[in-house]
Amino acid sequence: MTIDDAIAGAVRSSTASEASVRDGAGSIIENALALVSVLQAVAKIHPWLEVVVNAFQVVIELNVRRRENDGKIGVLFRSMRDMMEALRSLQSVPSEKARGSSMESRLEDLVKQTADDIKACANACDVYSKTRMLTKVLRSATWDDLFKQYVELFAQRRVDFLLRISVHSGIVLDDTHHKLLRVDEKVDELLRRVSESSPEQQRLREIVERNGGAEAVTSDDVLLEMVLKANPLAAVSASTVGEHENDLDTSGLATIKAELLESTTDALERNFEVFERKFRLQEMKIVEELTHVAHKEGDRIIESVLDGPHNEIHNPDIRSIWADAGWRGRVKSRHFVPALYDHYRGLLARARSAASALLSSEAVTVLKLLKMSRLQRVVEAIDVDATGFITVTAINRFTDSRPESWRQVLLEWVAYWAIGWEGEMCTYRDKINVIIAKMFFLRRSIRLVDQEVLDIYLAGVHREAETLTRAFRPEPVSVPPGLAKLFQERGDNVEGRLRKGLETVRYLIDAPDTLSLIIGPERVEEKIFPTLYLLLSRDFRVFRLCQTKYVSPEELIASWHSLEIVFEEVIQRYFHLKDVFEHRTDSTSELFKHFSSGMFGYWLDPQELWSLRTLEEDPFPEFQIGEDEEGPLDTTILNFPLATDHLYPREQENTVAKQPCGASVEFILGKWHGFFYDELQTPCASMYSFNFHDTGSDGLASFVARGSAAHRGSEFVVTGKVEQDDSGRPIFALWLRFVPSHYENYNVYFRGTLHLDGSVFAGMWGMVKHDMPYPFEFRRISPELLVCRPPPERFGTDRAAARWSYALTAVHTQVLRKLSSTRLLEQRRRKRRQWEDFAAGEKTVDVSELFRTTTYADACYYFAILLHRNLVHHSCICDHCDEVIAGARILCLECGIDDTLDFCDKPECTGAVVHVKKLPAPHLSSHDVVKLRAMAFSREIGRVLKTSKAALSRARTLLDRQEQSRSSEPVPYLWAVAPEIFRVATHSDRLASRQPSTSPVPSCIACSQPVHYPCWFCSDCEGDIFVCSACDANGGIDKDPHKADHMVVRCLRRAEERGDGASDPRMEAVERGMLSLERRLDTLELRLEERMSRMEGLLERIAIGQRSISNAT
Ligand SMILES: [Zn+2]
Ligand SMILES: [Zn+2]
Ligand SMILES: [Zn+2]
Ligand SMILES: [Zn+2]
Repeated sequence: MTIDDAIAGAVRSSTASEASVRDGAGSIIENALALVSVLQAVAKIHPWLEVVVNAFQVVIELNVRRRENDGKIGVLFRSMRDMMEALRSLQSVPSEKARGSSMESRLEDLVKQTADDIKACANACDVYSKTRMLTKVLRSATWDDLFKQYVELFAQRRVDFLLRISVHSGIVLDDTHHKLLRVDEKVDELLRRVSESSPEQQRLREIVERNGGAEAVTSDDVLLEMVLKANPLAAVSASTVGEHENDLDTSGLATIKAELLESTTDALERNFEVFERKFRLQEMKIVEELTHVAHKEGDRIIESVLDGPHNEIHNPDIRSIWADAGWRGRVKSRHFVPALYDHYRGLLARARSAASALLSSEAVTVLKLLKMSRLQRVVEAIDVDATGFITVTAINRFTDSRPESWRQVLLEWVAYWAIGWEGEMCTYRDKINVIIAKMFFLRRSIRLVDQEVLDIYLAGVHREAETLTRAFRPEPVSVPPGLAKLFQERGDNVEGRLRKGLETVRYLIDAPDTLSLIIGPERVEEKIFPTLYLLLSRDFRVFRLCQTKYVSPEELIASWHSLEIVFEEVIQRYFHLKDVFEHRTDSTSELFKHFSSGMFGYWLDPQELWSLRTLEEDPFPEFQIGEDEEGPLDTTILNFPLATDHLYPREQENTVAKQPCGASVEFILGKWHGFFYDELQTPCASMYSFNFHDTGSDGLASFVARGSAAHRGSEFVVTGKVEQDDSGRPIFALWLRFVPSHYENYNVYFRGTLHLDGSVFAGMWGMVKHDMPYPFEFRRISPELLVCRPPPERFGTDRAAARWSYALTAVHTQVLRKLSSTRLLEQRRRKRRQWEDFAAGEKTVDVSELFRTTTYADACYYFAILLHRNLVHHSCICDHCDEVIAGARILCLECGIDDTLDFCDKPECTGAVVHVKKLPAPHLSSHDVVKLRAMAFSREIGRVLKTSKAALSRARTLLDRQEQSRSSEPVPYLWAVAPEIFRVATHSDRLASRQPSTSPVPSCIACSQPVHYPCWFCSDCEGDIFVCSACDANGGIDKDPHKADHMVVRCLRRAEERGDGASDPRMEAVERGMLSLERRLDTLELRLEERMSRMEGLLERIAIGQRSISNAT
């Protein structure tokens, strides 16, 4: 394209857009892209323009990737484009004239500045598009102001450009004057449009107004929630369209609150880093595409002489197939596959007849591999929308996307999609499965302040990722070595590019547009496995770091959000496929079974994957990792600072106000430690510590502090304002809100005054702004001293005594601390035990006393180790009392089809008879059960069932043998006669068990007493570990090699011995054995009787004989 053509095109498009001022962002973007190509040509003359043209191009292309664009963003891009258009006049300024002139020096800096402004503006658009609708409405004034600033800035810049170019180039541009005249009226129009909002936003605004306006709604949770309920869409941002409904309920309010917490300026600043990475990624993409296009132009053959749609096909092989078949613009893929197959069979036949001269032997092998079923994969790669049709455009896209080095023959590319891709994906699938298994293995040795984050991450990963990997089951095929090498090269190349993209964004995928930058516009199934593999490998390194370091919970939350965006893409693709397949003639499930080697199969039918039968027959792989086989670790992979700062907050200096900041704010600045009390004046949570800073910027009498709650490390922000009461005394009104998080979703409002020379800050608090019924008290003294203070009510009853006790305890503790005596250690140990009891749900612990006497730092520490040790929550519900199971989980080994039957470890729940709809018979308390003391995810249930059943059978063998040898009854006469029958009786039992043990008497690992039915048996340990019922009732036993959180099966006598007539196959086998035994005994008895009678006869005869002899003598 010559410059003139480009300019002509751009002029056309720009005049077209002048006519339609109200066009959506889409056409503005198209115009802008046309302008880019013009400006690129201009930048060839004036290279110093490149920086701004590049920035302009990058932000436009970034914008194209966004799923949805707000009208306001369209206006911004319009004014940006108008500004850039001014630079077009430079094309009539020859480079010699510009070089070194005052024009160049005057424009160069301005151009650089403009590049930065464009980038900053695009960052603002990025933040705005990620913002939830309600926040946009509540903050509309700020946003509109910001956007107007940009519109004005760009308009001003446009004027500057035009003037400087015309004045300093000495060339009078004839239309400059005309253009300048129009700038003002256009700006007014644009400014007006910035303030316009979409109809949905307008509706939402009306709701907000009805509820008292933006300010009232922002500062009141109840109102916020009401508005959200009135319009659930309000919690949606453009970049997360299609998010699951239920997410909105739980996280909508928290997210909006978090967004409102941050000022727009802060949000822009925070996002800039993320945006900059995205910007770089897009820049890389543009360069890459440029080189690719340059190559592509070369091998394009167009025979313009002939007529017909096939002439538009780039590849000659396909073109001849297309022409021979006489297809038009598109063809059904089920006609295309046989044609392609036929083509390759023809090649093969010709190769044979020509004695392999035409094709290498490897090519012949490849041709033989190209079966009809395999060519189906190729069609999937061509027909990306899965419509069942192949178009000329699609086929060109397919052949053009070949790697550069594969240009000679199409066969390799076809073979890659027919056989290579599947093999490659199998490798990734296996790697992913190993990583997930390793993550699960590491789970128990991980130290994380917030265990729940880990569980959310793992549950999500294995549910979503393994649903894909387990369903992906292609037919294995062996690829000839030459081709395998080629495939390997491509695979490495793809992985390398993905890795580079992910590293550029530091493995944080903030929105779908970032993902599309990294994996490209192709169908998601093509690169989903390598992408997941790379993301998970990085997270696995984070897991390993978690073993030795207190990694911030935000680290895994961010990782999970990145993965969520990846899976969201998969879900979108799945729904698209489902939609398309439902309009095809074949059955949907049949189509999913074959599509992409069945990758989406379990998405269609998740029940098949998670049924207990499947889980038990084909358990998820388990993997153990050694100490040093994984290579060195590096904390530079982390995106968040280590959480140790929360555990032991750095000693921050008390903030000193720099200048008198109005209305007595300086009195509250600095550090405070204290408690929120309930109506009985006892602390209702562990200690809170704040270090207040003045916000300074806005001149208002306000202050702010950050902190984190001891029990989960959840971060919060406290903001405060100074007010005055009637007598002019300052009142401090504060508001504590939690930073984005999965669960902490409440506010604390508190209001109070300073006492005792400003050393005490006390007042009332509540969860609602207008209702603060409870007292609070914060002090300036050190936390160590604060915990020595007797509770407030003691000061009320006997002030003197309370003070005296306070002084004594304080001195005592300080002495102990100085001496670092064993008594202090003993004190701490005692405290820790109390915390353990508290965490174990012990009712006797005085919780508020515990809160009162523990410093913030210590509370963090105790919570962290307790959460690490007691994985008490199971994320499953008791099938009897319907409560979330805490402590031990009892899982029935005999019931359950799709889901397990679980109970709490309470007698009323374990003893219950439970009827479940799907089950043919009720669950009985006599069923075999396993007790889990560690959280088990659904992926682990298969193993739990399998090993528990085996362990139970083993335990019964040992216990039965013990009972038999113990029984003092004489050996029955019968056994003595026929020992071989005894062996028959026990044989089937032995088959079901492991090797017989040599241990003499089964005994309890805790109390060493011999065990009998009923008792517990470990199914995690290699050896035979029994725990008697009495010891197990005290909680998990920790005694080498057995661990407290091992799962144990309950050993009851077998069902038939219990007499409840339960029939399972094993019992039937035993019964059958017994029957045949009885029959054999019967015959034996008969034979015995025969023998006996014969003996009797003999004896008789002997006796008669003797008698006759004696008679004879
Ligand atoms: Zn229960
Ligand atoms: Zn049961
Ligand atoms: Zn015991
Ligand atoms: Zn064990």
